[in-house]
Amino acid sequence: MNTINLKNIYAAAEEYNPLVLDTYNRFRYYMSSNNALNPAISNFLVKEGFKPTYKNNKKFAVCISHDVDFLYEKKQPHQFLKSAVKSVKNQQLSLGYYNFLSLLKKTPNPSWALDFFLDFESKNNIVASYYFLALEKGEPDFNYKIETQTEIFKAIKNAGSEIGMHGGHQAYNDINKIANEREKLETTLGEKVVGYRNHYLRFKTPDTWKHLHSLGFKYDTTFGFADMPGFRNGLCYPFRPYDLQTNSFIDILEIPLIVMDVTFFKYLGLTVVDSFRLFEKLYEEVKNCNGVLTVLWHNNCVTDDYLKLYNLVFSKIISDNDAWITTSATLADWWKENNLASMEKILVKHFQNF
Ligand SMILES: [Zn+2]
Repeated sequence: MNTINLKNIYAAAEEYNPLVLDTYNRFRYYMSSNNALNPAISNFLVKEGFKPTYKNNKKFAVCISHDVDFLYEKKQPHQFLKSAVKSVKNQQLSLGYYNFLSLLKKTPNPSWALDFFLDFESKNNIVASYYFLALEKGEPDFNYKIETQTEIFKAIKNAGSEIGMHGGHQAYNDINKIANEREKLETTLGEKVVGYRNHYLRFKTPDTWKHLHSLGFKYDTTFGFADMPGFRNGLCYPFRPYDLQTNSFIDILEIPLIVMDVTFFKYLGLTVVDSFRLFEKLYEEVKNCNGVLTVLWHNNCVTDDYLKLYNLVFSKIISDNDAWITTSATLADWWKENNLASMEKILVKHFQNF
């Protein structure tokens, strides 16, 4: 890899003036010149002698995360009928009752309850990061009032897991929106949030990073392609984004998103078996570079094929003794303390002439 490529891939130069964006203003993988299956920059850094370290001498890290988009559901009459017939057939009368209630008003969907993740994670003695929306009624995808979620906040904190911010549809491109939504979340939570991911992975390079930095966020973990798992800018390491407009690093840590549940089925149309094959390929790439594997699993993606894939993915993760499974906030602190300086020393050497 020549030096120009290194800097441009690292900084995601191709995203500064893209020819087209999708309807959510996202830069899509089909417009990228990168190979998302190849962590090219991380491999380059390894060749130059970079070797990240992790707590307890683990070989690599895994950050599990959950974006909490939807908790309540109001069924349409035809959905109600279908579910009611199914629950009567299966003799699940309480589910039938739930379906009846959900026809009348918005009710919590029991299969979307965060208990599913909390139970799995506590059983396996692991932690995760939960990102919550803090929207107002009437805003796109408004589904729950953040003020009503205090019980679940307690449960997440008691589990040793992290609560972060999930920015709404427009937040990625509007610093005031980020600030307002964060204030609502922090007021309910009673403490500061340090981590961010935008809904739908909406992101503007490099503006979103600059907004988050000026608002004092410690890290972002939005940066991945919605339509392809893998490495958006060739990295499976947390990094400080490089701003090509000012030729300097932006002082926020990006923990790039590598795997998102809906990518496999919704965007790529894969089977469970092929989804897992792709996941295993990325897993090996990250592990080979001693990188950080970030996995996003939505609470409303835990039935049918999603559940099958969830079981495969998470059985692999929890059975790997080389993996340090931690929250993104803890990982961010660790990375800055132990790995960031030596990584940037190599990068800067190769950026220098350009
Ligand atoms: Zn979301």
